Amino acid sequence: MLLEIKNLNKTYGDSKDNLFYALKNVSFSVDKGEFVVILGPSGCGKSTLLNILGAIDKFDDGEVTINGYSLFNLSETKATQYRRKNVGFVFQNYNLVPNLTVRENIALSASLVEDSLDIDEIIDSLGLTDHKEKFPRQISGGQQQRVSIGRAIAKNPDIILADEPTGALDYKSSKEVLSIFEEINQKYQATIIMVTHNSALKEMADRVITLKDGVIVSNEVNNNKKAISEIEW
Ligand code: ADP
Repeated sequence: MLLEIKNLNKTYGDSKDNLFYALKNVSFSVDKGEFVVILGPSGCGKSTLLNILGAIDKFDDGEVTINGYSLFNLSETKATQYRRKNVGFVFQNYNLVPNLTVRENIALSASLVEDSLDIDEIIDSLGLTDHKEKFPRQISGGQQQRVSIGRAIAKNPDIILADEPTGALDYKSSKEVLSIFEEINQKYQATIIMVTHNSALKEMADRVITLKDGVIVSNEVNNNKKAISEIEW
């Protein structure tokens, strides 16, 4: 088991009588190489959960362990080390470094770790060979998101966390980006946790977790996984 979450609680609020549970008693586990889709309406706690898994946010109590390493109450230094070495992030708005080229954006991320993957092979897999010397502003949104997936996978992280990665993209670019996730999941056995409100995407996942008001309402293994090319919405 790669990731184990037990009885996780995350509250907001300043006094005991005024606590709001953004996540309540959340438990699930993820195996290495699993593609997990987390579904649920806006405000149900998806980003909060992803931020906790990425050690961006702290949590009140419960256990979160990744490869046996506990994320509870990490110091800033330990949290930074963990984020740098173990996690690849893909955000809705790409967050590329504007004055670095496609290749440099990916190389920068690879340089953070000792066991990075081959950058040019990744650029090839992403279909970005002809664009690798361009700057982010010179390529489309879909291409920029592909670069950000390249940046995430280059570190060969334990886990890739993707928060609405197609939220800013049109249908065709969304499909291209999702097929890249599919490819890195298969080719590099990358473990991916992707948050979305597009329920059609549950068909491409190995595991589908549905949240509502901070609570897991279902956690299902998908035995009938489909290729993104077969999924329509
Ligand atoms: P989702 O990603 O599913 O849209 P979020 O994880 O962003 O949901 O938010 C879950 C709930 O926690 C929401 O009701 C949101 O208003 C609340 N929340 C998130 N961040 C904060 C914060 N910093 N302070 C107070 N409430 C917050």
